[in-house]
Amino acid sequence: MTTTTRESYDQVMMPNYAPGDVIPVRGSGSRVWDQAGTEYVDFAGGIAVNALGHAHPALVSALTEQAGKLWHTSNVMATEPAVALAEKLCNATFADRVFFCNSGTEANEAALKLARRYSHSNFGPHKDLIIAFDNAFHGRSLLNISVGGQPNYREGFGPLPGSITHLPFNDVAALEETFNSLSDTVCAVIVEPIQGEGGVLDAEPEFMQAIRRLCDDHQALMVLDEVQTGVGRTGKLYAHEWYDVKPDIMATAKALGGGFPIGATLATAQVSDVFKVGTHGSTYGGNPLACTVASAALDLINTPEVLEGVSHRRAMLVKGLQAITDRFDVFQAIRGQGLLIGCVVTESWSGRAREFLLASQDVGVLTLVAGSDVLRLAPSLIIPEADIKEGLERLEGAVATLCAEEDKAVSS
Ligand SMILES: *Cc1c(COP(=O)(O)O)cnc(C)c1O
Repeated sequence: MTTTTRESYDQVMMPNYAPGDVIPVRGSGSRVWDQAGTEYVDFAGGIAVNALGHAHPALVSALTEQAGKLWHTSNVMATEPAVALAEKLCNATFADRVFFCNSGTEANEAALKLARRYSHSNFGPHKDLIIAFDNAFHGRSLLNISVGGQPNYREGFGPLPGSITHLPFNDVAALEETFNSLSDTVCAVIVEPIQGEGGVLDAEPEFMQAIRRLCDDHQALMVLDEVQTGVGRTGKLYAHEWYDVKPDIMATAKALGGGFPIGATLATAQVSDVFKVGTHGSTYGGNPLACTVASAALDLINTPEVLEGVSHRRAMLVKGLQAITDRFDVFQAIRGQGLLIGCVVTESWSGRAREFLLASQDVGVLTLVAGSDVLRLAPSLIIPEADIKEGLERLEGAVATLCAEEDKAVSS
């Protein structure tokens, strides 16, 4: 076997990603090691997926135990792990029913298909309009890029599904106006409680509550995309709990499997019941390995200790990030909730968030970006204090280096 290198990646992988030079081979908790044995503090969490860090012993043992029992049956048969996980999700949320799939994209696809089917069955085919928001991200299927609010993701992929409209995020007046003029055609509103990919932008409580009220008034469905904000990320099991609203349908994925691929669409009984045998499906959905790991992750995350620990960890991180920007004036705002943190770069660093990511990686800390102006952190919900401290120190070093280089470039 030849050694994997960044060059061999380019030979065989489609060129739709641009990974850095680091090739990680092992992780434990919130630390990761690359091929050369260099160690990194993980503030990225596999993009809000590894909510319990890497190789958590409870997840490893759940996975390996199930691996010796039963891997797959398809949905032709009911299995214990799927039913157990569905019961846990229904007990912990607004939902009465669950549909399992393998990703956030599929969870949103099922959510929107369910909404369309519900409207069609109850009110007729004219009530098909989906309201979505500018900058939203819901995944990469044709339906999801059409509903998503980032036009560059749709470019060159047409023809696209129709009867979708986009409004400005957090704009209650625009929402009211649209509902008032198109009332009997609105099928659903889909929204992220915090726009993750769009730049870690928080929905305002009045906005979320207006969506709920207008959906109720116009017999439309409120669909929440909690793929990034769910499963403890914000310090509640699901972020909508902060807003005092309940959706009719919700998509969840990412942290749900703690790193094992799984997605789920949750809904009330009234809405779910329009799905009949054969209306929707997924070969791997409800896979015993995935559901077993997700059950173990949910048991660990949905506890007061872990959820309360999220706000404490956020406070530590925000304080450290604030201290960095007090010294170097690199961030103009720190947004998000819980352990979904967005640092908006100042004017002079506009469009250059990725430079912070690369400089951080050079000194042993993994971060993310959300667009070109926001450095994003989404670490494990149980990241140890010592790792937060170490990661912040390394990040400060990276920022110091970047700023020193910048000063030199400006003065020469
Ligand atoms: C990541 C993400 C998705 C897509 O999930 P995949 O698992 O990549 O298909 C959808 N919605 C939101 C809000 C996300 O953050």
